[in-house]
Amino acid sequence: MRGGIAPAYEEILRRQSLRESAARTYARSLPVVPVRARGLTIEGADGRRYLDCLSGAGTLALGHNHPVVLEAIRKVLDSGAPLQVLDLATPVKDAFVTELFATLPCGLADRARVQFCGPAGTDAVEAALKLVRTATGRSGVLAFTGAYHGMTAGALDVSGGAREPRVTRLPYPQDYRCPFGAGGERGAELAARLTESLLDDPKSGVGAPAGMILEPVQGEGGVVPAPDSWVRTMRRITEERSVPLIADEVQTGVGRTGAFWAVQHSGVVPDVMVLSKAIGGSLPLAVIVYREDLDVWQPGAHAGTFRGNQLAMAAGAATLAHVRENGLAERARVLGARMKRELQRLAAEFDCVGDVRGRGLMLGVELVDPGAADPSSSGPPPAAPRLAAAVQRECLRRGLIVELGGRHACVVRLLPPLIITDEQASAVLDRLADALAAAVRTYAPPR
Ligand code: PMP
Repeated sequence: MRGGIAPAYEEILRRQSLRESAARTYARSLPVVPVRARGLTIEGADGRRYLDCLSGAGTLALGHNHPVVLEAIRKVLDSGAPLQVLDLATPVKDAFVTELFATLPCGLADRARVQFCGPAGTDAVEAALKLVRTATGRSGVLAFTGAYHGMTAGALDVSGGAREPRVTRLPYPQDYRCPFGAGGERGAELAARLTESLLDDPKSGVGAPAGMILEPVQGEGGVVPAPDSWVRTMRRITEERSVPLIADEVQTGVGRTGAFWAVQHSGVVPDVMVLSKAIGGSLPLAVIVYREDLDVWQPGAHAGTFRGNQLAMAAGAATLAHVRENGLAERARVLGARMKRELQRLAAEFDCVGDVRGRGLMLGVELVDPGAADPSSSGPPPAAPRLAAAVQRECLRRGLIVELGGRHACVVRLLPPLIITDEQASAVLDRLADALAAAVRTYAPPR
């Protein structure tokens, strides 16, 4: 820094870039040093305030430091309860499971088992895969293009970028970049038809699978909601062939999409649900819940030291109860629909906004480069990842934290907490519109 000592936060960022792994992620595009946070707002060590629409990658259903979450954590701390208990029973865990089961889709709640996993979503994905492989005695898994299930080996195998021979990749329905050029219900129907024919064709190369894993709305994949009819078709296809259906609700759960669990939009009852992020009320917690007849694995089949995070269970139970009692899923549905409409207005104003999509408070704006479109193609213009990165930077300059996602990192993602007010939502949209205009002004598409 010129003419003196750099401010402390710049020093912190400098030390981070010197000492932390090259694999660090959010820290690269969001050079913020949070020191205080409440609700939607983060205060940085630079003294600036930011509206946080990243929410710990969708973790913070109630925003930062919600009073009911803090109170639940303090209560455990003040009670003298042990904080490390492996997977032993405790009153805190008992209350969490009771609250969790009260929220589960009917049809699963009355015959469910829960397995506490290591604390990350990816560990619960591993558990789900192991569970269905053990229960069926098969090893192949059906997964979808564009999927994201985590970073451990098994979870990576079922994510979109992997090439794992035990995983059959099936087309996830997408409106905007539909592989069949159809989009909408028709595109989803064709995707489902291909799935069914691969399973039934004895020469397709797809053997009887141990399970199918899907996200009801793909998050990291670029905010792609699957049509409810497609989710129901996947349920029928798997049920008819006795293939367990695993719903990965790590990101879509706890009201985010406008229903408590995203599968509830379609009425589908999965055999296994993978849950993490918001269920820990901002602290690390991951579980699978599943049909009790799948519970045939051996003691210790999925062990781990950190399966008993008491603070996370207390914070999580308080969060689940607050979302349920205050109708926050419905609130996410209504406000998300309004925000989506307003984002669609942006699409009308800027031709670089190729698509606006999402469900509830899980929203995405896909940025494209119309100037680089192939005139002979009727498909959407190519993705514009540099423009998306510029929009993210301009948002940050205006005090708005957003995430990028999608196949080409060209989807600006909004994951605000469910407690966001109407006024805050308007502020988010104003800053985003302003950032978009600024990025378009300065952005020269590659030629
Ligand atoms: N599944 C989904 C749908 C996710 O969005 C994520 C994380 N973004 C994961 C699994 C993995 O969770 P974690 O990062 O906690 O391992």
